[in-house]
Amino acid sequence: MKRIAVFPGSFDPITKGHESVILRSLGLFDTIIVAVGRNSEKKYMFPLEKRIQWLKDVFTDYPQIIIDSYEGLTTEFCKKNQAGFILRGLRTSADFEFERSISQMNKKMLPGVETVFLMALPEYNALSSSIIRDIYRNHGDITTFVPEKIILSFAQQI
Ligand code: ADP
Repeated sequence: MKRIAVFPGSFDPITKGHESVILRSLGLFDTIIVAVGRNSEKKYMFPLEKRIQWLKDVFTDYPQIIIDSYEGLTTEFCKKNQAGFILRGLRTSADFEFERSISQMNKKMLPGVETVFLMALPEYNALSSSIIRDIYRNHGDITTFVPEKIILSFAQQI
C-alpha cells in the first residue's frame, strides 16, 4: 500500500514554516498531496491560482509532492485520493487545541485516516500566513518569511 498524505491548508501565502513541515515529512510518505482548501465563506488575500502556482514553484523539484485544491470536507478529499494520512504542523498550544478537535472529528468521520503532526522548528514557531499578510499589507519586507523560490514573485508584486 502506498502511503499517501494530504497536507491541507489555505497557504495564503505559503510560508517557510509550511515548506519545512512538508519537506521534513518526505521520508514518512510516498506521496504528499498539498491541498489548498477552497472555502467560499473565507476571504483570502491572494487568489487561488496564485497560491497554487507558488506551491508548484516551491516544490517543482519533488515528484513526490503533488499540488491540488478542493472544496468541502478534507475527509472526502482523502477518500477520493486514497490517502491514509492527514499531515499538519503544530506551533503553539492554541494550534494543539484547534488541531485536536479537527483531527478527532476527522477520525470519527473517516476512521481509516490518521492525522500526523510535526512540531514546528523553533525558528518558524512564530511564523504564520496571517502575520505575513499583515506585513505585506503595510508594505513591509516579507522576503525572509516565504520560501526562496517565490521571493521574486513577491518582489514583482510589491
Ligand atoms: P489553515 O487555513 O488550515 O490554518 P494554514 O495554511 O494556515 O491553513 O496552515 C496549514 C497547516 O500548516 C496547519 O497545520 C498549521 O498549523 C501549519 N503551519 C502553519 N504555519 C506553520 C509554521 N510556521 N510551522 C509549522 N507548521 C505551520
